[in-house]
Amino acid sequence: MKLITHWIDGASQVGAPARTGPVYDPATGTQSAEVAFAEKHDVDTAVTAAKRAFEGWGTSSLTRRQNIMFAFREIVAARRLELARTLTAEHGKTLDDALGEVQRGLEVIEFACNIAHLLKGDYSEQVSRNVDTYTIRQPLGVVAGITPFNFPVMVPMWMYPIAIACGNTFVLKPSEKDPSTSQLVAEMLAEAGLPDGVFNVVHGDKVAVDALLEHPDVTAISFVGSTPIARYIYETGTRNGKRVQALGGAKNHMVVLPDADMELAADSAVSAGYGSAGERCMAISVIVAVGDAADRLVPLMQERMAVLKVGPGMEEGAEMGPLVTRAHLDSVAGYVDTGVAEGATLVADGRDLKVDGFEDGFFIGPNLFDNVEPSMKIYEDEIFGPVLGIVRVDTYEEAIQLINDNRWGNGTAIFTNDGGAARKFQNEIQVGMVGINVPIPVPLSFYSFGGWKESIFGSHAIYGPEGVHFYTRQKVIISRWPDPIHRGVDLGFPQHG
Ligand code: NAD
Repeated sequence: MKLITHWIDGASQVGAPARTGPVYDPATGTQSAEVAFAEKHDVDTAVTAAKRAFEGWGTSSLTRRQNIMFAFREIVAARRLELARTLTAEHGKTLDDALGEVQRGLEVIEFACNIAHLLKGDYSEQVSRNVDTYTIRQPLGVVAGITPFNFPVMVPMWMYPIAIACGNTFVLKPSEKDPSTSQLVAEMLAEAGLPDGVFNVVHGDKVAVDALLEHPDVTAISFVGSTPIARYIYETGTRNGKRVQALGGAKNHMVVLPDADMELAADSAVSAGYGSAGERCMAISVIVAVGDAADRLVPLMQERMAVLKVGPGMEEGAEMGPLVTRAHLDSVAGYVDTGVAEGATLVADGRDLKVDGFEDGFFIGPNLFDNVEPSMKIYEDEIFGPVLGIVRVDTYEEAIQLINDNRWGNGTAIFTNDGGAARKFQNEIQVGMVGINVPIPVPLSFYSFGGWKESIFGSHAIYGPEGVHFYTRQKVIISRWPDPIHRGVDLGFPQHG
């Protein structure tokens, strides 16, 4: 069986690991590989390599760092299909969706190609007589990224291109469920001319994560994953003196007002609810239908759901692939059972779906519940699968209240033709990313991505300008050069006259 190993100091590690985990092909349900699980000493080896590499990389020229990012960008663009295929084979999402994921990652690399411009400081001349003040941004040192299974290419690319371009060295701990693309990008970075040790990958579980959280030479941690682990990472990392940004889970609401374009709303709800089988942190999982909107929306959604093609991600024409593991499939199907038991109306049931020739794959069809109540477990929990719930409310104010009372605040959207209502929504809603007639409001790479409330721990959103701030420290310099006019000793505070 193929063994996926760590990448440390510019090379794949050899030798049998003490522990491994299984990697599956979700379309067939069979194990496709084994991934090495790092022990504390493996993490120590990776951090030591990164620390050594920082000595040269941290002071390397901006042009060199940019040139390597440009070369990396070209290699990823040329090999995007290979990356996408590897991604689909382990995650299950459709090849088209995987190509889209690679594209969104590429855009962050392109942002990092411009790092010289982003690292410019400020300069104020003559703040006092012959005194100038200026700022510079310097890298932190060794930084680590811990990432989830649902975007194995894109989410790490939210982190390391910016971290590395800023002059840091990086240790990535990707999800153990779909680890292979991290090996591929490590090879691509090496091919682009990145010095050994600047980018390292350790695979594994909590043992590897805890070793990073506790390592004295790791200065900062970026995490993306579920809320309980994000909270744990933030609390443990900051207790150990590290800078931490930890992005958590979500329950994203899409408000549909009665005046909305219902065809657009139905297209958007189905696309954003079932795309990538609902395994997106920005997937819509709740529709908040105001007034009579649900009566008109549900039949339009049913029409669209009836023709959705569920199948293996590699298959031409497949729109929705399998879930990532059998355990996750069982969990999602269990939530559908729970919703029925709680008394929500099951409008579409995907539990019995079988895909010809792929009977053991981790497939489930799209599920739609109407008449969901906020007290139900299917409303309260993040299901992270193709399960959409409709909550009916009478007024716009109730819709706002429902969303603002929710513990998560990653993304939300409103569908309406009333500009005033949309503007009010944008101002009043307590969510980090807001769509107006746009169901998945993910900012492009030159803005930053981040939710509010329990969808983020730490003060920095990820990538974009906030990514540059996260991976650098500002230094302010106040300089005075000798001048013929010396005042002599002065123990008072300068008066800047
Ligand atoms: P997860 O929290 O289970 O795992 C994320 C990472 O943490 C993995 O690398 C995993 O190995 C590690 N991990 C898991 N359990 C751990 C533990 N007990 N101690 C230390 N480390 C541990 O998340 P997942 O299932 O891989 O991904 C899905 C989740 O990620 C969803 O909740 C989704 O909303 C969230 N997500 C959020 C965003 C965002 O931007 N906010 C983006 C993508 C995914």
